[in-house]
Amino acid sequence: MYLSKLFIPITKDLPTEAKIKSHQLMLRTGMIKQSSAGIYSWLPLGFKVMKKIEQIVREEQNFIGAQEMLMPTIQSSEIWKESGRYDDYGEEMLRIKDRQGREMLYGPTNEELITDIFRSSVKSYKSLPQLLYHIQWKFRDEIRPRFGVMRCKEFYMKDAYSFDLSDDEAKKSYNKMFFSYLKTFQRLGLKAIPMAADTGPIGGDLSHEFVILAETGESQIYADKNIFEIDLNNYKFNDQSLKKMRDDFSQIYAVTDDKYKEEEFNDKVKKDNQMKTKGIEVGHIFYFSDKYSKPMNCLIDDKDGKKTSVKMGSYGIGVSRLVGATIEANYNNDVMKWPKSISPFDAVIIPSISKNNKENLEKAEKIYKELQKQNIDVLLDDVDENMSNKFKKHDLIGVPYQIIIGSKSDGINLEFKELNDKSELLSLDKIKSKLKN
Ligand code: ATP
Ligand code: MG
Repeated sequence: MYLSKLFIPITKDLPTEAKIKSHQLMLRTGMIKQSSAGIYSWLPLGFKVMKKIEQIVREEQNFIGAQEMLMPTIQSSEIWKESGRYDDYGEEMLRIKDRQGREMLYGPTNEELITDIFRSSVKSYKSLPQLLYHIQWKFRDEIRPRFGVMRCKEFYMKDAYSFDLSDDEAKKSYNKMFFSYLKTFQRLGLKAIPMAADTGPIGGDLSHEFVILAETGESQIYADKNIFEIDLNNYKFNDQSLKKMRDDFSQIYAVTDDKYKEEEFNDKVKKDNQMKTKGIEVGHIFYFSDKYSKPMNCLIDDKDGKKTSVKMGSYGIGVSRLVGATIEANYNNDVMKWPKSISPFDAVIIPSISKNNKENLEKAEKIYKELQKQNIDVLLDDVDENMSNKFKKHDLIGVPYQIIIGSKSDGINLEFKELNDKSELLSLDKIKSKLKN
């Protein structure tokens, strides 16, 4: 893509309404545009990053055997009345009426809808376990939408639901999701801590929040630094090993506000290892057993032909929030560097151009074509602007690799630079193989 052709409305001024770095940066580089309070359009650059995150989330869901489906955004109020949540959910639920006067709502989450689908299709324990997920827009009429895509009214979420015959079986599904979440965040270049959490309006007794460290986060966290020492590679994808993984995590203190007790923290965590900091919740998983299946009559025949309520869990990842959260985690001294796995481009070519000298641009175009042939997704900065402005701009756009065509590059070697690092002179072949890895 040529930068001059890319729809990327970069603004020089710092947006005054944006309080945190990720929000400022997303507005400045034209990743998003607010359409009304807490509701955003995703412009090409932001959309590209979000889609890459979505794909990683999807791959890690598929890996554990979860099946993708798609439920609608608009739901009927009937099922919510059955579960008892229509009144409980309160003002955060956007309620709408269709032309027949039927009460509808824009789904804030999907426990009721998936339970309704499940009860009408599955009758026997033989079809269990099941793991289903979808990636779909949600609406919650947040009282104070803020921080850009971090807390919006309309946001993009992956939500998964597990169905099992017994509590024991259900915990195996829970552990699989726990593992999948940690792998997902690792691939996004994020260090997420699973924290024992309260279950809130979703209900149930077992729950973990996945939180990444960031000063601007809304969650207060208390944890033992040793939690970062647990290595996922030490566990295999089977029930026994995943149980071991969960046990290992549960040995290490990590809780959010609502479970924190000072005395317990000081008792269990050595002074040097104590982390008291802020974090951003990027995922949340719940095991709530028959909280929805019981009132909604979602019954399964067990091995003896006896009817029993199916045991359920639900598992959410904030896909759109992750775009902002990743920026918060990676922004440093006015430089933003995307993790390679989700960068909007693999590399950017920055030629030094002037009115009288088109030679560098021609050279850049040749390299551009070469890299494209190798399936390297490359941006070419063909804008006639001085180099120092260009560098400032690319510090914000955050493409991790730069090929600079200026005084240092000669006929054979090109100036190659990783953001936040020194540049080096490399042949195009070497650059290609670097980018390919
Ligand atoms: P929070 O505690 O941040 O309000 P929640 O506990 O209400 O979130 P869940 O129902 O657990 O949220 O939703 C799953 C995930 O969806 C959250 O971990 C978060 O990443 C994301 N999410 C929730 N609410 C919002 C929102 N208003 N804007 C953007 N993302 C959100
Ligand atoms: Mg939550």
